Amino acid sequence: MDDIFHPDFTTDPYWWEAAAPTTEGSQPPPEETDVAIVGSGYTGLTAAIELADRGHRVTVLEARDFGYGASTRNGGHASSGFNLGKASSSAKPSPLVKHLGLEHYNRLLGESVDSLLELEAVIEREAIDCDYQRSGRFAVAYTPTHFKQLVNKMTALDPDGSGGYRLVPRERQRDEIGSDFYHGGIVVERSGRLHPALYHRGLLHACQRRGVSLSARTPVTAIAADGTGFRVRTPTAELRANEVLLATNAYSQEPSPWLRRRVIPLASCMIATEELDPEVIRRLNPNRRTINDTKRILSYFRISPDGKRLLYGGRESFFTTDPRQSGRLLYARMTSVYPQLAGVRITHSWSGLVAMSFDHLPHMGTHDGIHYCAGCNGSGVAMMSYLGRRVGRKIAGDSTPSAYDGLPFPTRPTYTGTPWFLPAVGGYYRAMDRLDRWRT
Ligand SMILES: Cc1cc2nc3c(=O)[nH]c(=O)nc-3n(C[C@H](O)[C@H](O)[C@H](O)COP(=O)(O)OP(=O)(O)OC[C@H]3O[C@@H](n4cnc5c(N)ncnc54)[C@H](O)[C@@H]3O)c2cc1C
Repeated sequence: MDDIFHPDFTTDPYWWEAAAPTTEGSQPPPEETDVAIVGSGYTGLTAAIELADRGHRVTVLEARDFGYGASTRNGGHASSGFNLGKASSSAKPSPLVKHLGLEHYNRLLGESVDSLLELEAVIEREAIDCDYQRSGRFAVAYTPTHFKQLVNKMTALDPDGSGGYRLVPRERQRDEIGSDFYHGGIVVERSGRLHPALYHRGLLHACQRRGVSLSARTPVTAIAADGTGFRVRTPTAELRANEVLLATNAYSQEPSPWLRRRVIPLASCMIATEELDPEVIRRLNPNRRTINDTKRILSYFRISPDGKRLLYGGRESFFTTDPRQSGRLLYARMTSVYPQLAGVRITHSWSGLVAMSFDHLPHMGTHDGIHYCAGCNGSGVAMMSYLGRRVGRKIAGDSTPSAYDGLPFPTRPTYTGTPWFLPAVGGYYRAMDRLDRWRT
C-alpha cells in the first residue's frame, strides 16, 4: 500500500506548514518571577495572558519549541470540551450526576458551553487569524443503537430544544456527509473549527505583546518549595517563583510524579490527503462541519481551512507509532467511510498525545501548593484554553469558583504514568466496536 504516500509525503503535521513550533521571542529565564508556567500549549499561554493582564510577572518555560505539544497537532474541532459520552448515553441519571449531584453536573455543563463562547471572544479580542468558523459539528452513529443513544443524549442535553441540536436520520445523512457508512447522527450547531497552529501562534503573539517572559528549550526538571514560594530548576538555570502552574497535560513527565499518575497519555493520529477536486470535497462534507463518530476507537475528520483536503484523524494506535504505519491504518479507515477516496494519496501523517483521565473529566486544582490543569480527554481546544484562563485568574486572586476546580483527581494503585494497560484496552475496544457493528 506504499502508493498511498504522495511524493511530497512528510511526517510533520499539516498545520506546521502555516505555523511550526518556534523559538521566536525566546529568552533565558529571569532569576525571579511572580508565576512560572510549565508548558507552552493553549493552557500555559491562556493562563499567562490572564496573569499578565492583571499585572503579574509571568515566565513560560517550554521543554521543546513553543507549541511542540498537542496544541499544534490537533484536529481543530472546537467544541464544548466536556465528554458526556458515558454521562448521558441513556435517559437514566448518569453516573456523574449520581456522583457529583445534579447542581454540580449542571455547572460543569454550563462552563463547558462558556468555554466555546470564551474561545470565540479571545480570538476576536486578540484578532487571531486562525480561520475560526462556527461551522457546527456532525456526530455520526456507528450503529443503529448508537443512534438511539445519541437521541437520548440530545434529549438530556437539550430538553427544550433550544440548544441547537438537530437530529439527522440515516435517510437524510447525505445532506451532511457523502457516505452511507453511518446510521444517522446529530448536528450540534454550537461548535466550530479553526486552524490549531495559527490559533496557538496568535496566543503566543498575545503573550509577547504583554511582555510575558518566554523560554523555549528549557525543560523544568524539578520544583521545590522554599517556604514562601518555589525554586524551579532547569538544566541551565534556577528560577524563583511565588506560584507555579503545571500546564504539561499529556506531555507531563518531570517534574510532577503526582500529576503523571493521574494522566494517561494516549496517541491520536491524523492524515491529510493531497488536494482534491472541489466537487469531491463538496460531496464529502457539504456543510464543512467537523465530523466525529461514536466508535470507541473514534474517528474525527474535517475539510482543511483552504477547502482543498480532507484531514482525517483517529486513535488507531494508542501509542505514538511510525507515522507511515498509523497513516496506513487511518487510510484504511478513511476509505471504508469514503470508498470514493480509494487511490487518493496522503501528503501528511502525524500524531500527538491526548491526556485522558480516569474519570473522563478535565481537571484544574492545586496540589502541594502547585497549580495544575490537565486531562482534556481529546477535547481541549476550547476547554484547556478555558481552564488555563480560569487558573490564571485564580492565581491572580479572582475568587469566582469554577465547577472544575478541585474535583477529586483519581489515579489507580499501580499506575505511575506508563500506560502499560493500553494494548489490552485497545484490543477490548476494537473487539467491542466489531461486536456492536456485527449485532446490527
Ligand atoms: C492528534 C490530536 C488531535 C486532537 N484533536 C482535537 C480536536 O479536534 N479538538 C479538541 O478540542 N482537542 C483536540 N485534541 C486535544 C488538544 O489538542 C489538547 O487538549 C490541547 O492542545 C492541550 O493543550 P495543553 O496546553 O494543555 O497541552 P499541550 O499543547 O500538549 O502542551 C503541553 C506542553 O508542555 C510541555 N512540557 C511538558 N513537560 C515539560 C517540562 N518538564 N518542562 C517544560 N515544558 C514541558 C510540552 O513540551 C508541551 O509543549 C487533539 C489532540 C491531538 C494530539
